[in-house]
Amino acid sequence: MTKVFSGNLGYPRIGENREWKKAIEGFWAGKIQEEELHRALKSIRLGNLRVQRDRGIDIIPVGDFTYYDHVLDMSTMFGIVPPRFRYDGGAVPLQTYYDIARGNKEAAASEMTKWFNTNYHYIVPELSDVTPRLTKNRPLLAYREAKEELGIEGRPVLLGLYTFLKLSKGYEAAKRQEIVDKLLPLYVQVLRELADEGVKWVQIDEPSIVTSLTEEDIRLLHSIYGAITEQVSGIRIMLQTYFEAIEPYEAIIALPVQGIGLDFIHDRGANLEALRKIGFPKGKTLGAGVIDGRNIWRADLPKQGELLAQIIKLAEGSDIVVQPSASLLHVPVTVRNESALEPVLKEGLSFAEEKLQEVALLAKATSGANGEEVARQFEDSRRAVRNLQDSPARNVEKVREAMKQLSVYPSERQSSFEERRAKQKAKWQLPLLPTTTIGSFPQTAEVRAARRKWRKGEWDKERYDAFVREQIAEWIAIQKEIGLDVLVHGEFERTDMVEFFGEKLAGFAFTEGGWVQSYGSRCVKPPVIYGDVDFTESMTVSESVYAQSLTSKPVKGMLTGPVTILNWSFVRSDLSRESVCYQIALALRQEVEALEKAGIEMIQVDEPALREGLPLKHSERDGYLDWAVRAFRLSASTVKDTTQIHTHMCYCEFHDIIDSIRAMDADVISIETSRSHGELIQSFEEFTYPLGIGLGIYDIHSPRVPEVPEMVEMIERALKVLDPELFWINPDCGLKTRRKEETVAALRNMVKAAKAYRERTQTLNV
Ligand code: GLN
Ligand code: ZN
Repeated sequence: MTKVFSGNLGYPRIGENREWKKAIEGFWAGKIQEEELHRALKSIRLGNLRVQRDRGIDIIPVGDFTYYDHVLDMSTMFGIVPPRFRYDGGAVPLQTYYDIARGNKEAAASEMTKWFNTNYHYIVPELSDVTPRLTKNRPLLAYREAKEELGIEGRPVLLGLYTFLKLSKGYEAAKRQEIVDKLLPLYVQVLRELADEGVKWVQIDEPSIVTSLTEEDIRLLHSIYGAITEQVSGIRIMLQTYFEAIEPYEAIIALPVQGIGLDFIHDRGANLEALRKIGFPKGKTLGAGVIDGRNIWRADLPKQGELLAQIIKLAEGSDIVVQPSASLLHVPVTVRNESALEPVLKEGLSFAEEKLQEVALLAKATSGANGEEVARQFEDSRRAVRNLQDSPARNVEKVREAMKQLSVYPSERQSSFEERRAKQKAKWQLPLLPTTTIGSFPQTAEVRAARRKWRKGEWDKERYDAFVREQIAEWIAIQKEIGLDVLVHGEFERTDMVEFFGEKLAGFAFTEGGWVQSYGSRCVKPPVIYGDVDFTESMTVSESVYAQSLTSKPVKGMLTGPVTILNWSFVRSDLSRESVCYQIALALRQEVEALEKAGIEMIQVDEPALREGLPLKHSERDGYLDWAVRAFRLSASTVKDTTQIHTHMCYCEFHDIIDSIRAMDADVISIETSRSHGELIQSFEEFTYPLGIGLGIYDIHSPRVPEVPEMVEMIERALKVLDPELFWINPDCGLKTRRKEETVAALRNMVKAAKAYRERTQTLNV
């Protein structure tokens, strides 16, 4: 007989009220001692276990909790500490652990990068010049704690060796086997100790399996798990994948492990399809991810129940673990405390705590126990989903009509770039190598305090607007004095570049406590796109027009682009992401039109998150890029030839999407590059970029003010591969996190560098 369990894969660390963040930051600031930090985090950790038990979860993960990041936990467990942190064996001290993540006076922090296609960031393990050894068996300690403190028989979680290698840097591909030979015995030791303790199952996460695998990758996976099974007995491995379908299915399900966990939500139907065609090995346990672990919507339980029933039937002869599609790390903690949301929306939401209950209900339903109660809960869920579905916010006639007419909105500019360029040159009369900035200026304590007062009602709207205007005026004066060519208003009215637009567009909602971890102690509260997105009022016109009234130099209008708004929000799941993105694009298009009409004829539409939406499978990427580029163009292409469209992006690796960037057809793009200038310049040796471009010539992430010669050198290097007639001079990102003095000093040097270069070319031309 098939047995069905409920299980979970990981739980948010941050606590119901971000207690986790507060404790850790308190420790960093020296406000609490290490002892107290341990106590505070332990209480969150045990609380999380209790919630999972009380919500009816049979298989509860232990060891997924962390003091910063679960990948860093693996590195430090294996003593993988870059030599610059002077670690000399034994358990890695907490201070060293945090130094790796955050840097210290002597040593730069390890690199941080995105965890697959989520907005979570992990610390990249550095494998060069280290000798891995087991410093402590973390999962074992977590297992013991859960058992001793709560009597919970947890399932320890480990990040698998294959994924760990894929996420690490500091070794050459050719040396891969050598690293495997060093790390494999450590995994074996960890697992043996767990087995000796009496642990029955471990969860080994191998999300890298869902990216595009080569033959060699598959061989490596087989050799890793073959060796582990051979060398460890008495413990079963649940090999957990998520975020996409496994491919090739047959090779993965054949791995020598006792259970395989599959994502049936974000697999585009492919896992189910493969299960139907190929089946599942009898005797292996199947982890069935049927509740969305990545999104915040309540499940339609009858529908997910049907999916589960199909899976159970297709995997006949296997035990089943009903579970979320991925760790619940990527969703907020609970809907319970939301007090301001419209009931129809609140009822339609499900965060981590609520998802546990959905999982437990689905598992329970398969046994037929508590039939009536379960049936009632199923009905409730269906009703909530339908009510949200039928709500007026999701059925805005005007938006639906516009979407039907999508093809009539031209997503192309009236003329080619060459024609526009000639007209723009005549209109704008900019010098060679024009100087500008990316948009925001320092968000000082004063600016934040003013916004707080306004939000709390201590200041009325007039008072707050007047304050914002003072800031704009001050910074327009500063920019004029420094001698920049294209000015900005400074974005003082915005806390966050997505939230600001979300608050003014229809279709968005904001939670009070919907925080998720972004990296380390930093949490974000993504807007919720729950309805049809529509333009309601102009969002940026008055600030831009005011700024422009203070100067004869051009002031750039400043918008966040549709793809970035989409990628940094929780998005309704009843429409495709593509459709939602077009809705946002059409709304922004109206803002672009309003700006142009108001005389703002340089407009920047930022897309820093465009690359973040790239699908994990290479084969899916072109499809995404096509609609993302189309959405951008839909928002920005409505303008006259003389109106100059700018865009900005925030990452260095754009080698592989450069064709799409070009297809966006922005008159000018600025790219964040100063941390990897060399690499970027190289990509332009292979590919000429024929539109206006500014490569950030200094790093805004550091308080250091670079000297003029340094910046001149940056410019000269870039101009070896780029056309000076198309080149712009700018910092590499917005300046909102910098202090005023640094900003002014750095911009002054930047303008001097541009002038020095201009003078030199002029004398050469004479
Ligand atoms: N215009 C935005 C700013 O300057 C761009 C921010 C970003 O690239 N993330 O703040
Ligand atoms: Zn940026």
